[in-house]
Amino acid sequence: MRLLLVEDDTLLGRGLVAGLGQSGFAVDWVRDGEDADSALATTTYDAVVLDLGLPGMDGISLLKHRRAAGDKTPVLVLTARDTIAERVSGLDAGSDDYMIKPFDLEELQARLRALLRRSRVEPYRSSPWSCHLDPAAHSVTLDGAPVTLSNREFAVLQGLMMHAGRVLSRSQLEEQLYGWGEEIDSNAVEVHVHNLRRKLFPDVIRTLRGVGYIVPAQP
Ligand code: CA
Repeated sequence: MRLLLVEDDTLLGRGLVAGLGQSGFAVDWVRDGEDADSALATTTYDAVVLDLGLPGMDGISLLKHRRAAGDKTPVLVLTARDTIAERVSGLDAGSDDYMIKPFDLEELQARLRALLRRSRVEPYRSSPWSCHLDPAAHSVTLDGAPVTLSNREFAVLQGLMMHAGRVLSRSQLEEQLYGWGEEIDSNAVEVHVHNLRRKLFPDVIRTLRGVGYIVPAQP
């Protein structure tokens, strides 16, 4: 899952990149509204964590601008100012949730999972086995039995299941796994796919040689 973090506070930004990274999110971090706008215009994110008090274009203006442009990416607003007026203006501008600073990292992770659950991931089933992925609980079951996946294996499977029936190239899957500036192992995706086939069932992910990977759509 790829997140855009918009936060001008360096200490908080670093903490969030590390904390969210540990729970399996690929995090791109920008420090102002203009950079956030360019990032959102060029990259597909699963969610945005948006501070409202930013230098230059503030968070509310950015949000209104993106919503007016048809951007439906779920947005969780962070605000230091605990006023009803600001919360209401954030929600009016099109945010999906908000948290008041200071906040607890675990609560932020839980809220993000809830946002993602509301966005678009459908359970995936394949006969004769039944594989079910729950983005909110960050869990996968096969025939009802829990399967233990690493954060990155989960991210690859979720990326493919969200786009079931469509081929994703290796670089599109890498986008699900890595934030900006993170070093990418050249065969990481192949390794994760291999492990997923071993832990689930061999046909869950098909390879289209030279093109990418696909999870077949539901019949
Ligand atoms: Ca700020």
